[in-house]
Amino acid sequence: MSFQVFGIPVSRGVAIGRAVLVASSRIDVPHFFVDPSAVGSECERLVVARDRVASDIALLQTELPPDAPAELAALLDVHLMLLHDEHLVAAAQNWVVERRYNASWALAAQLEVLARQFDEMEDAYLRERKGDLEQVVERVMQALHSPDESPEARWSQVASRSSDPNKDAAEELILVASDISPADMLGFRRSIFTGFVTDVGGRTSHTAIVARSMDIPAVVAARDASRTIRQDDWVIVDGDAGIAIVDPPQIVLEEYRFRRRQGELERERLARLRHTPAITLDGQSVALLANIEQPQDAAAAIEVGAVGVGLYRTEFLFMNRGGQLPGEDEQYEAYRKVVEAMQGLPVTIRTIDIGADKPLDRMGLNELRHEHSLNPALGLRAIRWSLAEPVMFRQQLRAILRASVHGPVRILLPMIAQASELRAAQEQLARARAQLLDAGRAFGHVQVGAMVEVPAAALSLHLLLPLVDFVSVGTNDLIQYTLAIDRADETVSHLYDPWNPAVLGLLQTIIEAGARAGREVSVCGEMAGDPQMTPLLLAMGLRSFSMHPARIPLVKQVVLRSDARRLQTEVGRVLQQEDPQAFSKKVFEGA
Ligand code: PEP
Ligand code: MG
Repeated sequence: MSFQVFGIPVSRGVAIGRAVLVASSRIDVPHFFVDPSAVGSECERLVVARDRVASDIALLQTELPPDAPAELAALLDVHLMLLHDEHLVAAAQNWVVERRYNASWALAAQLEVLARQFDEMEDAYLRERKGDLEQVVERVMQALHSPDESPEARWSQVASRSSDPNKDAAEELILVASDISPADMLGFRRSIFTGFVTDVGGRTSHTAIVARSMDIPAVVAARDASRTIRQDDWVIVDGDAGIAIVDPPQIVLEEYRFRRRQGELERERLARLRHTPAITLDGQSVALLANIEQPQDAAAAIEVGAVGVGLYRTEFLFMNRGGQLPGEDEQYEAYRKVVEAMQGLPVTIRTIDIGADKPLDRMGLNELRHEHSLNPALGLRAIRWSLAEPVMFRQQLRAILRASVHGPVRILLPMIAQASELRAAQEQLARARAQLLDAGRAFGHVQVGAMVEVPAAALSLHLLLPLVDFVSVGTNDLIQYTLAIDRADETVSHLYDPWNPAVLGLLQTIIEAGARAGREVSVCGEMAGDPQMTPLLLAMGLRSFSMHPARIPLVKQVVLRSDARRLQTEVGRVLQQEDPQAFSKKVFEGA
């Protein structure tokens, strides 16, 4: 039966495909696609793991003391029976054969199917056996865990599946999950998923940002999606309206196929703007830069005609690594790749911004050194973390300095709130330079900039500007901290408003302060890639925008149609409004 799930639209467009449920399990389940040649051995692993658990249970049975309660022996019998039921391992093998899921994922998918069947049972005793099933599956999962399921192995295999020439085009898949960590999302980037639906998240949660950077339709905060959508259901993801339509009737399917085609045509049309310089009608030149998360994203930046990288989020290099953080040389290689790929265009490398909704993985340094924070967005994140880990910070700075030999590089420091942090960071930079000199390593000149994403920085910018070459406004966090709205919390996402007069007022303050001090101001939050916002930002005097490559053509189209001088005359009135969005739409229409 057809039904709809409502959420927040975070990445535009339409995707139509079969649901792939990524269940949340008590143990961490790796998800990747196995190579066709490995299907047989993956199926075999399931049998081996099942047999290992079965023999453990059989051993337990023989060792039961004679006075052990009868229920215990009966329970072990039930576990053995569940283990050997063909609905478990044989059915999981089907997921491996038909979908090429890795063994743990296949088992988790099958658990999901069986758990639903248990939930629907009339008999209370049988219904309660679901708990036993979960325990049994968990033991098999533990038995399955092997080096082949390390994070590095999984993502490389996802990549191999995506480039499979035999891939059936009709086999589009939509990922449905309770939540997807930003790091997992990045891994899925090179996979075959054509749409995402998650139960939680907000418009600028990092998961949503990565979805947008992939330019894949996505809906987040769709509350019950992962419980109501079933494995293999047909799903339409309407990333413009924030709706997932499950088992759509034929007529709806046809309508969405038409819309999807229209979207593709529109993208093709915009792609022709690639070589057109972004200049307003009154001759103002505007820099449209790219936000990237991984070195390979630089190709997309060049492809759409970005004039540089305005934000390289390096923290993704540090995630999902099973505790093995990248050393200086590995970082240098990654940064150099970006610098070279950008062919002489400037690359802004942001130092690690972990914490809040971008934790390092469980075995990462977060766990080793720092306790859980009650309020991670206000805790030890971004520059605070780097300054607390000076050895690691200098290692990153050295890698960046070395990469700057290959082209123009700028360092961007995240979440600066006060001048003392900038001074401390500059001190570490000086030490990193000295270390490179001592080691006889080459390094180039870098400009240093601060991210303005904490209201305190915006309000005391005159004290920060003399210490930097440029600033970049992180509006995603600036909105979060100005409005006291957790950007990743779907329960308050309706209050997360880029158009809030306080946010716009701060933005204007920052742009004016930058102009007075002769420092470049850029915006690299999601706001920069929202074409609805472009006229107002131009009107405020912003001339540098950094966004996901896929957004550049859309924003460029607005820039080309705008008269910045005319827009400027309306800024004062827009900022006085209770609803600046509605007013801005009215006054800037056709300007
Ligand atoms: C921001 O906060 O606007 C920003 C660009 O940084 P991030 O989204 O990575 O926190
Ligand atoms: Mg930020």
